[in-house]
Amino acid sequence: MTEPVAATDFIRDTVARDNEQGTYGGRVQTRFPPEPNGYLHIGHAKAITVDFGIARDFGGLCNLRLDDTNPDTEQVEYVDAIVSDIEWLGYEPAAVLHASDYFPVLYEWAEHLVMTGFAYVDDQDVETISAQRGGYGKPGVESPYRNRSVEENLDLFRRMRAGEFAEGSRVLRAKVDMQHENMQMRDPVMYRIRFSHHHNTGDEWCIYPTYDWAHGQSDAIEGVTHSICTLEFDSHRALYDWYLEHCPLPGDQPKQIEFARLEFTHTVTSKRRLLKLVTDGIVSGWDDPRMPTLQGLRRRGYPASAIRDFCHDIGTTKTNSRQSIEALEAYIRRELNKTSQRRMAVLNPLKLVITNWPTDEDGAPLVDHFDIVNNPENEADGTRSVAFSGELWIEADDFAEVPPPKFFRLSPGKEVRLRGAYLVTATGVVKDSSGAIVAVEATYDPASKGGNAPDGRKVKSTMHWVSAPHAIDAAVALYERLFAAAYPGERTGEPLDDVNPDSLQLVTGAKVEAALADTSPGEVVQFERLGYFAQDARTPMLFHRTVGLRDEWAAIQKRQG
Ligand code: ATP
Ligand code: MG
Repeated sequence: MTEPVAATDFIRDTVARDNEQGTYGGRVQTRFPPEPNGYLHIGHAKAITVDFGIARDFGGLCNLRLDDTNPDTEQVEYVDAIVSDIEWLGYEPAAVLHASDYFPVLYEWAEHLVMTGFAYVDDQDVETISAQRGGYGKPGVESPYRNRSVEENLDLFRRMRAGEFAEGSRVLRAKVDMQHENMQMRDPVMYRIRFSHHHNTGDEWCIYPTYDWAHGQSDAIEGVTHSICTLEFDSHRALYDWYLEHCPLPGDQPKQIEFARLEFTHTVTSKRRLLKLVTDGIVSGWDDPRMPTLQGLRRRGYPASAIRDFCHDIGTTKTNSRQSIEALEAYIRRELNKTSQRRMAVLNPLKLVITNWPTDEDGAPLVDHFDIVNNPENEADGTRSVAFSGELWIEADDFAEVPPPKFFRLSPGKEVRLRGAYLVTATGVVKDSSGAIVAVEATYDPASKGGNAPDGRKVKSTMHWVSAPHAIDAAVALYERLFAAAYPGERTGEPLDDVNPDSLQLVTGAKVEAALADTSPGEVVQFERLGYFAQDARTPMLFHRTVGLRDEWAAIQKRQG
């Protein structure tokens, strides 16, 4: 994998400064810490390129840490998908670790906080605790249990751990400051009682650490130097530092750095909402090609390299904004233009009969073969032999019996080029009893073999075609935006209200050239004039439209001047 060395940004500046000052002895270690409660999405791709990219650029290392502190929402299925998605994106974690591996240390350090007077057991329920936190300009209220003795706290905390108390009956809280202007610092909860089975630790624990209590400590245990996360954790940084300052760390204190999330128009990246799309049956699964999950995008045919390039080129900032989905698509198209093989496929077939096509002595129509270039962008891809005969499939849209103004494709009396083959002129139509056109009749010019007339006469239109006796049947899934609105949820507050009910059109009767039978699972080809299409990884002869050919992003930029 080659990737350009990233232009510098505020995170790399910080890391470079720490290296100069010897803050971590020149060591650089990051981590990518997803919670295994769903599949990774395009936003995670940004975090992955930042976390792994910075480690690589500074000769450091980056671990995958599954942030699995909540047993109720986490599953092994998600863990496996996360591991394989990171690999697909082109990165290799130095190690695959679990926050839950640190439960024993976290527990020990929590006892340390209790013994040093910085944590206490609160017997109130979460609602009461939450109400007592107050708000901006609204003072917090101290819990009546806040000043318990160390002995009593230690005894109660150990009994919480031993399973003596019911869920929700007690929590362990840090004793920070109930009047702190930062709400996160108002005696945050460190442990909750949950009698739940955990995917990694089984039934060993009945108390589970909160995100804030687990995160910084896990960073410190692993030796992380720079703990990079998204902006919403900005207000948690003070608590992150407070916990670290009050724990007996084995080494240096890591540093949290926040950057803006990657969001796109017409796209939702909240795992909770993506899960709802799956459970409500709006999509066929987490890997539905309309999903912004890495598995969905991969199935749709998005190349990992194009996703990486995009994440790199947009840079890393501290301001939240939405990228145009068309900008990402332009990257996908640019990459596929370089790499994909050209093929011919007819999605809405109409028969074209060449009435002057020659037959052999027995009256059977002859078959011609043309060598057609596989990829004009890469000569090394060579040519393939494509069969041509007197009966062809063309797109129904490419013919009009009565052409509207400026219709340059086929109509009676008009001559067009059949790509790489011959010039043909329509002579008439065949209709069924209801008057519907079932075939177009045409004559071909035998002197135009290869697609050009020897007299050099001008032919405006070039059309794709498939020889009818040689065609194979295919199914093609055409996708529109899963969310009709550019900013899903802007109208009602609920993004799922903006789901586009017509985001999938399945075309079952497509006729495609024989070479497409050799497409490998997941391979993306260009269907001439139609766009880029990915061969499904599981179902042969099912193609997903990755992206169309038109550069909508260029058009948008032009309009915006
Ligand atoms: P959700 O809220 O949908 O569950 P999350 O932010 O909690 O998403 P995690 O799996 O906990 O997702 O995140 C793992 C890492 O990826 C975190 O460091 C997080 O900051 C980062 N991340 C998540 N979403 C984005 C995004 N849209 N852009 C950039 N980074 C992201
Ligand atoms: Mg989360």
